[in-house]
Amino acid sequence: MSTASPGAGGPDPAMLLELDGRHVWHPYAALPPAVAPLLVDSAAGVRLRLADGRELIDGMSSWWAAVHGYRHPVLDAAVTDQLGRMAHVMFGGLTHEPAVRLASTLVEITPPGLEHVFLCDSGSVSVEVAIKMCLQYQLARGRPGKRRLATWRGGYHGDTFHPMSVCDPEGGMHHLWRGVLPAQVFVGAPPDGFGAPPDERYLAELVDGIARHADELAAVIVEPIVQGTGGMRFHHPAYLRALREVTAAHDVLLIFDEIATGFGRTGALFAAEHAGVTPDVLCLGKALTGGYLTLAAALCTPEVAAGISAGGVLAHGPTFMGNPLACAVANASIELLRAPASPPADLVRPAGPAGADGPAGPVRPYWQESVRRIEAALRAGLAPVAGLPGVRDVRVLGAIGVVQLDRPVDLPAATTAAVAAGVWLRPFRDLIYTMPPYLADDDDVARIVRAMAAAAVAVPR
Ligand code: PMP
Repeated sequence: MSTASPGAGGPDPAMLLELDGRHVWHPYAALPPAVAPLLVDSAAGVRLRLADGRELIDGMSSWWAAVHGYRHPVLDAAVTDQLGRMAHVMFGGLTHEPAVRLASTLVEITPPGLEHVFLCDSGSVSVEVAIKMCLQYQLARGRPGKRRLATWRGGYHGDTFHPMSVCDPEGGMHHLWRGVLPAQVFVGAPPDGFGAPPDERYLAELVDGIARHADELAAVIVEPIVQGTGGMRFHHPAYLRALREVTAAHDVLLIFDEIATGFGRTGALFAAEHAGVTPDVLCLGKALTGGYLTLAAALCTPEVAAGISAGGVLAHGPTFMGNPLACAVANASIELLRAPASPPADLVRPAGPAGADGPAGPVRPYWQESVRRIEAALRAGLAPVAGLPGVRDVRVLGAIGVVQLDRPVDLPAATTAAVAAGVWLRPFRDLIYTMPPYLADDDDVARIVRAMAAAAVAVPR
């Protein structure tokens, strides 16, 4: 451990932590928090540098967001260039190139049929906007009875009130909010397994559960393929196709919340692609700006937009809507994701008859190549962890690795074990999981895997 504090000359770390404990709320915490946070001084690449000089590989990508890691020169330049023009300007009555470019790019890269983009501040707000779009659409179409939402159990959609109403009732602690949250329709959670054959009985229950309530439903909202904060569970794309069919048949809209899954994380650029389905409304956030600034988006089809607009305006307009700094860095982040991966030999296929032009042919984009590489490293590394005592399940999809215990994780013990192994992890419930930045190399992933194994067997001292 280095003795020279990188923050030397700045405020005393001990004093900062003392003030933090006294004044600062942290996520899902009491005051003071049960476990004191670690003080981060800076971050670069995949590493967080703590004020005491220790360096940790970030196995969390700052909660799914920092796909390019930290202090990426291209993203840094995008922010500083934009700063030289304007940091912010209101979006009512004004527009600007970063927002126009971002909206056009999102339309281009998301599933076909989504053509209109509402930019907003955070994932939860984009879910609020998506729900509002659906409620206004149904009202404008003369179906005032369609005011409720349906979802499956085990989901998570954010911490503001309407999103909370469609979170899993137990994980979302609905008992605290009885009489406050709107009562939504819940069907059973999708059976586990991206690769497992679809469960026909569940499919029938799913379709029936939606059809039975269709008269009162404005929309169905789900996280496609991966239920994240609700339990890090993966499901088969067939359930999404069934949802698409039953909602379309009953004038119910379909919202996909891809705030966590978007931008390559599951091995497809958007998880909806695994099912070949376009929802009526799509929510994006987190990795949208490469984790640099808070920004989210709700995209919708022309039909939804026309329905709402026939009835008036979409009644939403956050102060920081379309923030230019956030849009500029989002544009740069998406460009990096879509850039061709430098072509390793096995990827270069001759295009047509081998010619004098040398090897050519499709090279996978950077995001896809990185996610495949991380997926392979996680699969190989985590397989033996399944045999550790107390481990109930190990699963991997794209650049997501999950170790599920047969008991709740002891957060302080697990965190201490991971930090001692040089990795930042943030387990919850019975889950130790990782979704590394896409630039994590094989050594980084191996270290993350070792830290997950250490966290899995860590016991309170
Ligand atoms: N939906 C999903 C699927 C999420 O994972 C999250 C964040 N964990 C949200 C919505 C809420 O996003 P935010 O924290 O930016 O409000």
